[in-house]
Amino acid sequence: MNLDFTPQQLQFREQVRDWLQAHKPSEPRPDDGAEGRAFDLAWQKTLYTGGWAGINWPKAYGGQGFDTFQQLIFLMEYAKSGAPGDHYRFNGLNLAGPTIIACGDEEQRKTHLPPILKGDVIWCQGFSEPSAGSDLASLKTRAIVDGDELIVTGSKIWTSWARFADWQQLLVRTDADAPKHAGISWVINRMDNPGMEIRPIHDMAGGSDLHEVFYDEVRIPLKNIVGGINNGWRVSMAQLSFERGTAFMPSQIETQKTIEELIELARNTRLDDGRLAIDDDHIAFQLAKLRAETRSLLAMTLLGISRNERSGMPGPEGSMLKLFQSELYKRITTVALDIVGADRARLSGLTGRWPQAFLGSFANTLGGGTSEVMRNIIGERYLGLPK
Ligand SMILES: Cc1cc2nc3c(=O)[nH]c(=O)nc-3n(C[C@H](O)[C@H](O)[C@H](O)COP(=O)(O)OP(=O)(O)OC[C@H]3O[C@@H](n4cnc5c(N)ncnc54)[C@H](O)[C@@H]3O)c2cc1C
Repeated sequence: MNLDFTPQQLQFREQVRDWLQAHKPSEPRPDDGAEGRAFDLAWQKTLYTGGWAGINWPKAYGGQGFDTFQQLIFLMEYAKSGAPGDHYRFNGLNLAGPTIIACGDEEQRKTHLPPILKGDVIWCQGFSEPSAGSDLASLKTRAIVDGDELIVTGSKIWTSWARFADWQQLLVRTDADAPKHAGISWVINRMDNPGMEIRPIHDMAGGSDLHEVFYDEVRIPLKNIVGGINNGWRVSMAQLSFERGTAFMPSQIETQKTIEELIELARNTRLDDGRLAIDDDHIAFQLAKLRAETRSLLAMTLLGISRNERSGMPGPEGSMLKLFQSELYKRITTVALDIVGADRARLSGLTGRWPQAFLGSFANTLGGGTSEVMRNIIGERYLGLPK
């Protein structure tokens, strides 16, 4: 692929840069869930009003219809600008939205896509169950057809942001007698639907954004099934290809900035023996290696974008990127703890940016498919190894 930007693309980059500089929030995102939700929605509204929401979504549903390279330029400038991350907006923008664009009908697109871009709603994902994580097709939450509705009973776990969400992409078993991949449906569910109970789970980093969600005869209109009844596995695979392909693109690009910030930290932090961290051979070597690896990650991201541009859908190489990025981030935050001092970090209760990033880095290697599962996919689909 040609990596030189055209004069038009350079002009576009200037526009993005200037707009972000002028409009990005000056205050940090609040930690509190309800305040965080309000902050995320307000920022999404600002993006929408400014003409920067849904960069590559079709114009018919409120998007900008820009090409993949403009999307890339936008993401690169976005990461550089320090504008807020997706946070609670993640599911709607990166998973539910693209899935409804790819697999939904016209009514579903018109109803659900514009509110995501306008910053009116938050989405969450109800896929995993206590006995169905990596083996997602084993899910048991059942849905019985009753007239023009589904009646859903069962439970989900690890649902990020459930109690702050308005809508949910939910996987249910609509045919208990069919082979396990064939009896599943992907449905759109309201989070205030009667019969639902949401309980937060507290994680090791001190957060409570994960949840258990229980369904007791919850009624969902049949028209909320995306892609047809019992066709949910195909829809989920399209969605997981976004989750592993394009959804993490912003964090892949953000990693370029994180490593430079870590190098800066090493230049300004003294170790227990009084030397600057950057003068420690082991730390300097690790930083050089990590910087080289982040460059490789960027090259892989660009290659993936170039392939997506030709095929129209993210391919299995998304699994390589997801694996590489999440494991790389774990190594970056481990070196960060070497620099700030693991003992000092422990004494201060693991608060502060880098200890929190270290604790959070484990989640990235699980959510969206674990590293082991990514390795299986790469082995089987890419390298042609036996199961
Ligand atoms: C921060 C975070 C956010 C999440 N958000 C959501 C969400 O919003 N919605 C949602 O539905 N889910 C969510 N999840 C759940 C996530 O998708 C699952 O945790 C993940 O799919 C793994 O499933 P599991 O936890 O049941 O582990 P299991 O599948 O039970 O795996 C346990 C261990 O066995 C390994 N393993 C399993 N199968 C294989 C195999 N075939 N080969 C080799 N090793 C294997 C795994 O790698 C893992 O180490 C989230 C998880 C995290 C950590």
